[in-house]
Amino acid sequence: MTPVHKSELVAAGTAVVAAVVAAGALVDGALRPQSQTFGRTLVAGRDPDEIALTYDDGPNDAATMQLLDVLARHEARATFFMMGRFVRQRPEIARAVLAAGHLVGNHTMTHPWLAWQPEHVIREELRGCNEALEDSLGAPVRYFRPPHGARRPAVLRIARELGLTLVQWNVQGNDWAPIGTQRILGKVERGMRRVKERGRGANILLHDGYDRAMGADRTGTVEATDLLLGRLAGTAHRLVTVAAWG
Ligand SMILES: [Zn+2]
Repeated sequence: MTPVHKSELVAAGTAVVAAVVAAGALVDGALRPQSQTFGRTLVAGRDPDEIALTYDDGPNDAATMQLLDVLARHEARATFFMMGRFVRQRPEIARAVLAAGHLVGNHTMTHPWLAWQPEHVIREELRGCNEALEDSLGAPVRYFRPPHGARRPAVLRIARELGLTLVQWNVQGNDWAPIGTQRILGKVERGMRRVKERGRGANILLHDGYDRAMGADRTGTVEATDLLLGRLAGTAHRLVTVAAWG
């Protein structure tokens, strides 16, 4: 057996630690929603009274119009990150969202995990959704949320080249699963308290659509939105779109 000097063991140990730290930074940069590791990422502003309701994976003919009714009743503006393939199927819903005064952003054509895609796929996914939105809305798109929040440096670079600001979130309702109105609301309110304690606005991730298919039941999300907006009425909170933050 070859004797191993202690300093070699220490060096090896340091290298392992460095590799683990580097891997940790990569995972953090790729997957933690608020990470800034791979470039500027919009999360929320520094006014803890500001709240952005954001809805992903639509337009959805089973939920988006009902949600627009709820938002209108509370005079609330929100942000919708839409999938290009659903915009192509229901352009009139995308137009109704914009006409109601909400912000519409890009959520790719087909909802892949962009962090693991080759660059040409990232570009096609972002450009395809931009084109679907711009054809339907007749207005340029400025904001983009990556599916699952997953990205790598190429995703930010390509988004920038297309004039898109990458947006994440800091509160989520876990409403992709059918957990029911009250649990969605509880999760959102806990998250809002947590970011408020840190002196940040709340960027709340909810879903009016479902990435696999048109027509998903999002009754829980629509009802939780109605209850949340009812509770916020008369408080110091202000509803904003993500455009308020950059
Ligand atoms: Zn999504």
